[in-house]
Amino acid sequence: MTSIPEALTSGPAQVRSIDPATGETWRVWTSTTPEEVQAAVLRARAAQPAWAARSLGERRRIFRRVRRRIFERRAELAALIQREAGKPAVEAMTADVLTTLDVVRFCERRAPRLLRARTMIPSNVALWRKRVTIEHEPYGVIGIISPWNYPLFLPASGTLAALVAGNAVVLKPSELTPATAVRFGELLHESGVPKDVMQVLPGDGATGAALADASIDKLFFTGSVATGRKVALACAARLVPYALELGGSDPAIVLEDADLETAASGILWGRFSNAGQTCVAPKRVIVANAVHDAFVDRITTAAGHLIMGSGAAGSDVGPMIRPSQLDALESQLRDARQRGAHVVSHARGDRHFFAPTIVSNVSSDMRIAREETFGPLLAIIRAHDDAEAIAIANDTPFGLSASIWSRDLTRARGIAARIAAGTVQINDALSVVGMADVPHGGVKESGTGRLHGEAGLRECVREKAIVVDPFPSWRQPWWFGYGAEHARNIDAFARFSHGRTMLERLSGAWRSIKMLVSRERPL
Ligand code: NAD
Repeated sequence: MTSIPEALTSGPAQVRSIDPATGETWRVWTSTTPEEVQAAVLRARAAQPAWAARSLGERRRIFRRVRRRIFERRAELAALIQREAGKPAVEAMTADVLTTLDVVRFCERRAPRLLRARTMIPSNVALWRKRVTIEHEPYGVIGIISPWNYPLFLPASGTLAALVAGNAVVLKPSELTPATAVRFGELLHESGVPKDVMQVLPGDGATGAALADASIDKLFFTGSVATGRKVALACAARLVPYALELGGSDPAIVLEDADLETAASGILWGRFSNAGQTCVAPKRVIVANAVHDAFVDRITTAAGHLIMGSGAAGSDVGPMIRPSQLDALESQLRDARQRGAHVVSHARGDRHFFAPTIVSNVSSDMRIAREETFGPLLAIIRAHDDAEAIAIANDTPFGLSASIWSRDLTRARGIAARIAAGTVQINDALSVVGMADVPHGGVKESGTGRLHGEAGLRECVREKAIVVDPFPSWRQPWWFGYGAEHARNIDAFARFSHGRTMLERLSGAWRSIKMLVSRERPL
């Protein structure tokens, strides 16, 4: 059982939609209780077979309607996300709504080919008669627990892949952004997804823990490493499979031959968009010594032009999701200062805002290098050669994604091969997570499993092999009826299959063929 923190069990059974820029609560939701979670899972289980029995063509038609509906409601969705997560409206539109539309289209267009059953003939000649079909069977009920930083895109990515593959979904969105997920669920229902096949359960960590403990068939979790560990333990106790998308401290390596303006501009956007609250943001920039000072100058100047604000057209950096996030960043910054880092640019910001902050002279023992920094705080580390840059990049418990900035693509690819990360981008950062066709996920403590792309769809199905012998009257050569003759046949077959020389193989051929085509076994 997942241990539910006492504060969660004894706390108010409510979650709130709050405007992060002002702290104003604009909607209160009743938290779903553990009993209600289990009841929802049972409803999903009852509804799932009929959903899976629908043809893929029918599910794709529903997905087309989903895409049309999300497109028509794009402004409403972006406004809702902006209000609930505090991000600039343009980011709500690009990083949540448009990316979600891409995921719907990916599922609609690519699922038929990727989920199609495939046939094969085994490579062992003793199995020459077998006809094998590998089918993709939905798990049944997939539980999804999601975070708040991309309140539409992240829950939608897992949900859509699970649904197109024939599963039912029970989604527990973040307690900080329930309204967006509930609206997403309504749009799916309006498009033809049955209500019990896709249920959204608002609630806090206790509701999430109850979902991990409920009778689901697989769990998709996106969130922090600490919570990921708890849900993994809950699943392991019942041998329920899971996929975890967790935190990161992504390195960006800027080589001396990089286009510095492009690198500064790309890393600025990667780090400070979504107010730095992104798992795959470049959090540690490792800069070649030769261009270190020039890079720091450029990115600091550019950061000075960013406009903090929420809602107003033209604002770049929104508020932190909650005031506690500001305190966490201040504490990491204090630690860096005390250990000798240079704070190149910083201002506390107004109320819920944290001004884009750049820290240089960072070393691997500082908390900003070792921990995930979840806000607009960029650490810069100097490297003297490629080997040192790679060593610094990998010196972290995380391994989500990474970026390399260079004009020499061969050299950059060589470095990419030595970075421990789920994805590596060359001359861009962050955008990889929004690519519906490209697998996203981590190594080390950044998680297991993949979201998006073919690998993401395969997370939603079990491979099931149907092995047919089309000759019902033929017995198999390995069945009972052992004896000296049989042993000689088997030895001949071993030589025929695995002999070291052609001669040795041929020496076993005749007996083997006779054995394999024989219809007789004594028992
Ligand atoms: P979090 O771990 O605090 O919460 C995530 C979800 O887990 C929420 O819905 C929460 O209610 C639920 N939860 C909390 N306690 C639980 C428990 N005991 N059992 C089950 N569920 C529980 O994370 P967060 O603050 O919402 O999100 C930020 C983190 O998510 C960051 O570390 C970020 O890097 C990570 N993240 C990762 C990815 C990725 O794709 N790898 C994407 C986005 C965010």
